[in-house]
Amino acid sequence: MMNASSRYYLSGSAALKWLESPCLYDIREDELYELDEEGLAFIKECSGTGGGDPRKADKAFAEYCISEGLLTLMKIDVRRPPVLRSQVPSLRYLELQITDRCNLRCRHCYLGPPLNRELSILELKSILDEFETMQGLRLLITGGEPLMHGRFSEMNELLPGYAFRKILFTNGVLLNRELIKSLNVDELQFSIDGMERGHEAIRGKGTYRHVMDALKSALDAGMAVSVATMVHSENLSEFGEMETLFLSLGIGDWTVDVPCREGNMKNNGAFCVPPDTGGQLLKYGYGKGLHGSGEGFGCGLHLAAVLANGDICKCAFYAVSPAGHIRDGLAAAWTRIKPVNLSELECADFSCPELNECRGGCRYRASMLEKSGKGPGAGTGLYGVGRDFYKCFYYGIMK
Ligand code: SF4
Ligand code: SF4
Repeated sequence: MMNASSRYYLSGSAALKWLESPCLYDIREDELYELDEEGLAFIKECSGTGGGDPRKADKAFAEYCISEGLLTLMKIDVRRPPVLRSQVPSLRYLELQITDRCNLRCRHCYLGPPLNRELSILELKSILDEFETMQGLRLLITGGEPLMHGRFSEMNELLPGYAFRKILFTNGVLLNRELIKSLNVDELQFSIDGMERGHEAIRGKGTYRHVMDALKSALDAGMAVSVATMVHSENLSEFGEMETLFLSLGIGDWTVDVPCREGNMKNNGAFCVPPDTGGQLLKYGYGKGLHGSGEGFGCGLHLAAVLANGDICKCAFYAVSPAGHIRDGLAAAWTRIKPVNLSELECADFSCPELNECRGGCRYRASMLEKSGKGPGAGTGLYGVGRDFYKCFYYGIMK
C-alpha cells in the first residue's frame, strides 16, 4: 500500500542495463524497456539503497513497473552489478558450452563424438562475471549435455547472483523432479526432435518418455519451458502433432531449425532434408529464439558462443574459426567478431523483399551451401554472401 513516505525499489527480477541505450530488463519475462533520460534517473534511484521518489516518477510508467513486478515498495537485499556502457554492438546473448560430454549419441549432433572437455569452475565464474559486466541479457547453458559437467552442482550454485536470464538447454534424460527443483535457472529448454517415433529415430530408444516426463515436471514446478526441434527425414509428418502438443502444454517458445551437415550428420546424411522440404517446416517455430539482431545486420548481431575448450566464436558452428579464448577475456574476443552487414549479401543484390525479416538466414548454413557448390555465392569469407535456401523456401522467395 502506497503512503507519503513510500519509496520504489527495483525488484530482484529486474536489472538496469546500459546497451546501445539504457534499458530496464525484465529477467523473468525476457523483455527490454528502453529508458529516456528521466526514466534512467528514476530507475537508478530505485536501484540504490534509498529507493526512488514517487514524486519524481512518471506515474503510468511506475505503476506499470509495479504491476509487472519490476518495482516493489519493499526494500530488498539484492546484489546490483555495475551498470557500464556496453560495447557496440552489445553482447546480449551468450551460448556457454560448459562441456562437450553427452549421455546420448544423437545421429544429427553437430559436435560429433564427445572429446570430454569441460570448462573449470574458475573459468565459468570468470565468464559469468565478464558477461554480466558487458551488460549481458541471456545465457544459454549448453553442451554436449550440460548436466554431464563433472561439477554441475557447483556451477549451479554460482548462478543465482547474476543479473541476467539463465536458460539450461538439455536433452532431458538425466532430469528428475528433485533435480529440476534445485536448478537456479529461469528457463529449461528441451531438445525434442519429433513425436516418439521421430524423436527416437535420431536420439535413441527410450529417450522420448524421459524428455516428456522431465518437461512435464518442469511445467509442474512452475518453470518457464521452451523446446528446440531439428527437422530431419524421420519427423517430417509429425510437426502438426508436435504443434498441438506444445501449444496444449503452454510451451512459450518453440525453435525449429534444420541441422547442418556437420559432426555425426556427416555419416548420417540420410536424415538431411532438402531446402524445399525443410524450409516449409520452419514455419512451425514460434517465440523469440536465440537470435535477436539489429537493423541492417544478420546472424545474431548480439550473439557469441564459448566452447568447452575455452574458444570464443560467433556461434558453435564456427568452432574452427575462434575469435579468441577465455584466457584473454570475452570482451577482447567480442571486438573481433565482425557483424554481418546485410547490404553485402546476395540477398540485398536482388532486393529480396524479406531481407529485413529473414536477415540472410543462417550464415553458416548459407556458406555451406556455397562451398558445396549448391549455392550461387562466391564461397568466400567466414559468413559467405549467398542465400540460405531453407529460408528462401520458408519465406516463399523460392517455390
Ligand atoms: S551462423 Fe547461423 S546459427 Fe550461427 S549465429 Fe549465424 S545465424 Fe546463428
Ligand atoms: S529469404 Fe532468401 S534471399 Fe531473402 S534474405 Fe532470406 S536467405 Fe536471403
